[in-house]
Amino acid sequence: MKTVRDIGNLKDKKVLLRVDFDVPVDEKGQIQEPFRVKKQKEMLDWLVERGARVVMIAHISAAPSFAELMPQLHILLGREIDFIKTVGDIGAHLQNSSNPALLDNVRQNAGEEKNEDKFAKQLASGFNIYINNAFAVCHREHASVSAIAKLLPSYAGLLVEEEVKQLGTVLDAPAEGKVIIIGGAKAESKVPVIKNLIDKAEKILLGGVVANDVLKEKGQDMGSSVVDADSRELLAGLDLNDPRLVAPKDFIVFDNKILDIGDGTMREYMDVIGKAKMIIWNGPMGLFENKAFARGTQVVAETIVNSGARSIIGGGDTIAAVSPLGLLEKFSFVSTGGSAMLVFLAGQKMPGLEALN
Ligand code: ADP
Ligand code: MG
Repeated sequence: MKTVRDIGNLKDKKVLLRVDFDVPVDEKGQIQEPFRVKKQKEMLDWLVERGARVVMIAHISAAPSFAELMPQLHILLGREIDFIKTVGDIGAHLQNSSNPALLDNVRQNAGEEKNEDKFAKQLASGFNIYINNAFAVCHREHASVSAIAKLLPSYAGLLVEEEVKQLGTVLDAPAEGKVIIIGGAKAESKVPVIKNLIDKAEKILLGGVVANDVLKEKGQDMGSSVVDADSRELLAGLDLNDPRLVAPKDFIVFDNKILDIGDGTMREYMDVIGKAKMIIWNGPMGLFENKAFARGTQVVAETIVNSGARSIIGGGDTIAAVSPLGLLEKFSFVSTGGSAMLVFLAGQKMPGLEALN
């Protein structure tokens, strides 16, 4: 994979930079968790310092447009950014301004999610170089990550390079001392990670709905707990009695629902985490949005950062759970990936990375 470090002189080069600004936004239009935007600053600064003329493209799901978010983006990125309303306005921007700019929500264009060559050509027009710095969308076959890379000399950005390196060590490091913690919901994206990593880990500790699914298939009465209807198909091929796969043994139950791991499980997990050399964590242990069921997640977070082990975490809700605890900076690496991280760790196809090879 070629990276931005392989590009020669960037002075006055017109660079199309795919970034990831897909942040949660509250009812008042405030960015709730700016982590992903902050992680783009280094790449933008790097390019601007070298004299490149940068137009950024990104999508956002929590709002229809970036227009109202621009003042917050200026502050987070530490500089003024021109706003380009439509793809048709990029040409005029490149003629009239050398300021960095952001094109509005790229998913406003129907061709984006269809990976259309025609739309990719529109995007590429007028640029010398394409850089993908949006690891979180590299699992998508979209025009601004996939089709575009056939049209311009294409490079991985600093963040994509870093994510691939960090998450690559999760796949490559020896199983000894490697502990994987998987919780949260969305079991269909988590079980493939468990299947891919079970032979590459010392222990896999489970929590959340993923643990519920495993307990249900092991024959436990789950009461009214949230479980996946297709848990049998999801878990097919995985030996649920594998001693490396650890399900919770006691729980916090409310309204006949399992909503957090219990004290005994917490102690067991703390013991395993305390002995680990490398820890990878995705997915809260319980319904952490409610304080009464947030303790398992908090204890796991604190135990990881105090363990001294190399720690890698990711996932929108996982980050949302640990950020208010002031712990985000204490992990060795926080992936911007979410779903992309899970696809990578499951060893599945990443069209955005393949396009750069
Ligand atoms: P991430 O975004 O970190 O990958 P997920 O989206 O997979 O995490 O899962 C987070 C969600 O899982 C949270 O909304 C949380 O409330 C929910 N959850 C975790 N444990 C339980 C449980 N026992 N019952 C119901 N929901 C749960
Ligand atoms: Mg989530």
